[in-house]
Amino acid sequence: MIISMKLHATPQEVAQVRARIEEFGYKVHSIEGEERVVIGAVGVGDVTQCLDSLEAMPQVEKAVRISAPYKFVSREFRPAKTEITVREAVIGGDEFVVMAGPCSVESEKQILESADIAVRHGAKLLRGGAFKPRTSPYDFQGLEEEGLKLLDKARRATGLGIVTEVMSDRDVDMVASYADVLQIGARNMQNFALLKTLGKCGRPILLKRGMSSTIKELLMSAEYIVAHGNSNVMLCERGIRTFETATRNTCDITAVAVLNELTHLPVILDPSHATGKRSLVPALARAAVAIGADGMIVEMHPQPEKAVSDGAQSLDPKQYARMMADLKPYIALWKQARMAETAAVV
Ligand code: PEP
Ligand code: MN
Repeated sequence: MIISMKLHATPQEVAQVRARIEEFGYKVHSIEGEERVVIGAVGVGDVTQCLDSLEAMPQVEKAVRISAPYKFVSREFRPAKTEITVREAVIGGDEFVVMAGPCSVESEKQILESADIAVRHGAKLLRGGAFKPRTSPYDFQGLEEEGLKLLDKARRATGLGIVTEVMSDRDVDMVASYADVLQIGARNMQNFALLKTLGKCGRPILLKRGMSSTIKELLMSAEYIVAHGNSNVMLCERGIRTFETATRNTCDITAVAVLNELTHLPVILDPSHATGKRSLVPALARAAVAIGADGMIVEMHPQPEKAVSDGAQSLDPKQYARMMADLKPYIALWKQARMAETAAVV
C-alpha cells in the first residue's frame, strides 16, 4: 500500500496514520518526503479494509494498493525514475552513464592503464572484478582484497567511481569499504542471503539478471534489496540463455523497455556478456542508447589478448575510444528523449 498524506501533514498526523497501519498488523516500510509525505506499507492478504480506514482519515490524501508483487520497485509506487549518485555520475538522470574496464583486476599496471583509458573517453565508473565467479574451479578466481586495493588506487588516480562484484554475504562489508557500487553477478541474482545483506551495506547495487531468470524474478530480487533498506538499486540486462549459440548469451534488448515500464529503477545494459564477442559490442551499445537504457557496463582491456578472463569480448583501447566517439550523436538524441520523458512524468 502507498499512502499519500495531505500537503504539510504534521509529524503527529503521520504518526497517527502509522499507528493505524500497525493496528491492522501491517508493516510500515518507509516514510518519505517533506512537504508531501508518502508512506509505504506492506500487508499480506486483503488490504481493502485497511485502505478504506486510512482513506477515511482527514490527514490522508490517497491510499492505494500496489498490484505488482514487487511493490517498492514498481512504477506504480514511484512514477519518476530513481536517480543514483555515484561520485561524478547520476545514474537514472539526464546522462547516459558508461562504466568501463576489464573483466578482472589483474595487476596494478593493468588496472591503472584501464582506468586512464576509461576516463579519457568518457566513462564515469571503472569496472573490474576482484572476486570472480568462474565456471571452472581451476580458472583465475580474482585477486580478492588485493584487487580491491588496486581499484582504490585507480579511483584515486582518476576520480572514477568503482563498480566491482561481491559474491558472498560474508564479504559485503569488506567490498563496500572499497567500492562505490556493488555488483551482484548473474549467478547470484537469487542468492537471497546476499540480497538481504545488501539492504544495509550503504552502497548502490548493480543487480545483474540471472541467465535463466525472468524479468519478474529480477524485479523480485531487487525488491529484496529495497525491502531490506537499500533503495539505490540499478538493474542490468546481460543476456540470457537460449538455444542460440552464435553469441555467448542472447541479449533480451526488449527487457530494457519492459523494465522502464515496470520499474523506476535505472536500467543498465552489458553488451559484453550479452554477446561474448568484441566485434558485436559497439552495435549493441548503440541499441542500449536507442532503447533508453540509463547506461552501460562494458569490458575493455589494455591488451585483450592477454586478459585472464573474457578477453574475446573485451574491447581494446582503440575500439573503446572509437565506440565512445561513435555513440555521441546517439547520446544527444537520448538526452532529448530523456528530457521529454522527465517532463511528461512531472
Ligand atoms: C562480469 O561482469 O564480469 C560477470 C561475471 O558478469 P555476469 O555475472 O553477468 O556473468
Ligand atoms: Mn566478464
